[in-house]
Amino acid sequence: LEDFDIDRVRADYPLLARTVHGGKPLVYLDNANTAQKPACVIEAVDHFYRERNANVARAVHVLSEEATNLYEGARSALARFINAGSAQELVLTSGTTMATNLVAYSYLLPRLRPGDSVLVTRMEHHANIVPWQLVGQRSGATLKAAPINARGELLVDEFIAMLTPEVKLAALTHVSNVLGTVNPIAQIAAACRKRGIPLLVDGSQAVPHIPVDVRALGCDFYAFTGHKMCGPTGTGALWARREILAGMPPFFGGGEMIREVRIEGSTFADPPARFEAGTPNIAGFVGLGVAVDYLQGIGMSRIAAREQELLAYATQQLKQVPGLRIIGEAAHKAAVISFLIEGAHAHDLATLLDLEGVAVRSGHHCAHPLMQFYGVPATCRASFAFYNTFAEVDALCIALNKARSLLA
Ligand code: PMP
Repeated sequence: LEDFDIDRVRADYPLLARTVHGGKPLVYLDNANTAQKPACVIEAVDHFYRERNANVARAVHVLSEEATNLYEGARSALARFINAGSAQELVLTSGTTMATNLVAYSYLLPRLRPGDSVLVTRMEHHANIVPWQLVGQRSGATLKAAPINARGELLVDEFIAMLTPEVKLAALTHVSNVLGTVNPIAQIAAACRKRGIPLLVDGSQAVPHIPVDVRALGCDFYAFTGHKMCGPTGTGALWARREILAGMPPFFGGGEMIREVRIEGSTFADPPARFEAGTPNIAGFVGLGVAVDYLQGIGMSRIAAREQELLAYATQQLKQVPGLRIIGEAAHKAAVISFLIEGAHAHDLATLLDLEGVAVRSGHHCAHPLMQFYGVPATCRASFAFYNTFAEVDALCIALNKARSLLA
């Protein structure tokens, strides 16, 4: 992108100036794990605690009112960011994991009967597998997974063929955290809708990287996490259509989610408050609201385009490294590259890269069934953000060649 001022963008991130292992510049390529935070987000959290700190929706004093306005402002900013119908359709959670668990226990469990099933895919994160298994164990329902091909693409026809009447929920990731595969959500959502099967989309790896419009996608639930989109940890959200949320019973009980409590029984607040018991991560959401403004200031389309350039260059350069095999070569990919080098264990490789200042993740990436499909215990994963550079791709390749000469 000619108009992308990378030096200016990088100057927003204090941590990107760090050195590691005795003065080596940090090359941070673990963005799918968590993203770095721009100074505006760090300052918003700091400012909140210095100047505004109070609990939300609990007191009439001015600080509490300010805190409530900031917190609700973040909800509105997030809702606009994904084009939700209204801010009331957004339940603020600690992240994707809490969002999928909320759907599992509040929406799904009361509907599950023995013989029912939940349909996922082979490429899901454990956060989009284990909650369905847990409620399945309580109800006698089972989990089934649609297959993928060797390039790491979902077999969409198979997925749709598996949408049989006993399926009470379909759930899949928008973008794979291991392969980078972008799934055709709108097509799948249309097939689900035709069969009356609700669809949950795990947007953890999509919202930070591509423009997302939940209503255009046509799904019923959309879960995402704040820390991967330049926001603080312990923030995230579940979007669901208003009528779906209205029909869901509470899962967590406590303060702020009630209408009236009597010893004989309680009545509950309307959504989203019904699902937000207890004091939330107020400062975190204040930071996340600022992160949303920051991302919009750059523009999600420009972020996506920049990352596609990085992906194309990194793919091409990594293919020059002898013995390197890329796992996941979908036609439609985000800037995530899993790889292995013949004769080297992923952890050893990541350890040697770290010594050169290059941070990648090695392991199963919370996707055991996907590792089983490829028959590997682990991969190395380089995952990019718009603030990464082409020079950092070169640094990765130099470090890989050095590691290869030591290991392979
Ligand atoms: N789904 C996907 C695809 C992810 O990449 C992640 C984070 N690695 C999660 C779910 C879980 O997100 P969190 O840990 O923030 O709840």
